[in-house]
Formats: sequence, structure tokens, C-alpha cells
Amino acid sequence: VITLEQIYKSYGDNAVLRGVDLTVRQGEAVFLIGPSGGGKSTLLRCINFLERPEAGTLTFLGETLCSQNRTNFSIAPEKQLRRARSRMPMVFQQFNLFSHRTVLENVMEGPVTVKKMPKNAGVGLAREALDRVHMLQKQDHYPDQLSGGQKQRVAIARALAMEPPVILFDEPTSALDPELVSGVQTIISDLSNQGLTLLVVTHDPAFVQSTAHKVCFCDDGHILESGTVSDIYTNPRTQRVQKFILSSG
Ligand code: ATP
Ligand code: MG
Repeated sequence: VITLEQIYKSYGDNAVLRGVDLTVRQGEAVFLIGPSGGGKSTLLRCINFLERPEAGTLTFLGETLCSQNRTNFSIAPEKQLRRARSRMPMVFQQFNLFSHRTVLENVMEGPVTVKKMPKNAGVGLAREALDRVHMLQKQDHYPDQLSGGQKQRVAIARALAMEPPVILFDEPTSALDPELVSGVQTIISDLSNQGLTLLVVTHDPAFVQSTAHKVCFCDDGHILESGTVSDIYTNPRTQRVQKFILSSG
């Protein structure tokens, strides 16, 4: 579904991504782990073109969104990038809901505004999405009236309402009170079990181990190792990953 070859991105002198190769297959839950500042968020943002990579080739659902040959780097037109972005919505640590709109209005915004669906069809999709995250009963509430875990479930419903083939998650449970974490993680695991393709950044080893089909360790602008949960957590090949696993519990 997604392939990256030698993706580069820097901010000024800071070379954040320095040749990232990554493949995400249909139905896989791929988890990105690694130290703070290693470039995980930047990588997610380059995949959906919230940030523009500076070199490398990226394909998504068979479309080339940027490509690199020996002399040239080119990026697809903005319209094509926007369409691709709507097919891989991102869920953030901080929920990013519209505070002056109800839960239902937040969730139907994507289908109606981005996909230009008629309003009643958008409401239908939004209600279905809310049902999948067990939040339909809160459809007329405002975000302020919800717990962090409930807000994040609404944010996931917002993504689901786009009927995307892939959802990107950047530390979806890092801003939650501890007792609310597992509810959100269960929703994400359920989506994976239902066959959705997921790319998830998290600092929670238990979540990775319960849900990942593939784990990629990202540090210093590279994917240093990738493999199954047991490849990474039981038999890491490099000292760098061994040390990280020991220190992250
Ligand atoms: P964390 O686990 O703390 O979220 P991360 O792996 O997600 O870390 P990034 O947020 O991708 O790391 O940051 C990688 C590097 O890029 C850092 O050095 C950071 O300061 C830098 N960086 C990220 N975003 C920007 C930006 N918009 N402008 C300038 N520098 C940035
Ligand atoms: Mg980050």
C-alpha cells in the first residue's frame, strides 16, 4: 500500500530523515518506535505530505507521489497529494477536534467538506464511524464535555468517516490519563483485526507487542531495524536496539 525508498527531509541544517526505506502492506499494522527526536513524526508527516520530502520515491496505492531518479526529484501536483492525504488521515496526540462543533459535526466534516458528499450521506457515514468507536451516544456533545479517551475515539471516528484504506497514528495515547489508554488502544487493535492498514507511532511497548504485525525502529533519520515483535523485542540485531528495548521496559 505504501512504499518509501530513500526518503530525505531536513529542517535547515538538521537532516531529520536520511534515507528512509519502508514498506506497509495491505492489512498490516506497522508500528514505528524509537527515541525522541529520531524523526518518527516527521516521517508520518512526509508520508501524507503535511511535510514535503526533499528526495526519494514514495508510492501510495500504486500512485507515485514523489519520485527520484539520478538527477531529478519531482512531487505530484497538489490536487493529487490532497486526494492521497484524504485516503490516509492522521490521528494526533492532541485530538485536534473543532471545539465549537458537536461530535457528529466534527466527524461528518470530512465526508461533507473534503469528499463533497450530500449532507445526509455524510451524517450516515459519521454515525456509522461513531458506532465503531462506541461514541454514537455522544454525537450531540461538544468536545469539552468529553474525557481525553472519548475525544480520541471521536478523532478516530473522524478518520474512519473518510473510509480510508490506511490510518496514520502519531502517539494516539500519549496525552491520555493512564486509565483511559487501554480503551483507545483496544479500538485501534480492533480496527487492525477488521483488516484496516495502520501505521502507528507509539512509546508504549505493551501496545506494540499486543498489536503490531511489523515493528520498525527509527533513529537518527533511518529505519535501523524492522521485523516482527519477536525479532525486535526478543532478538534485536543491533546494540542500539538492544539498549533501547532494555531502557524502555
Ligand atoms: P518524539 O518521539 O519526541 O515525538 P520524533 O521521533 O517524532 O520524536 P520528530 O518530531 O520527527 O521526532 O523530530 C525530529 C527532529 O526534527 C528533531 O530534531 C526536531 O527538532 C526536528 N523538527 C521536527 N519538526 C520540525 C519543524 N517543523 N521545524 C524544525 N525542526 C523540526
Ligand atoms: Mg513525534
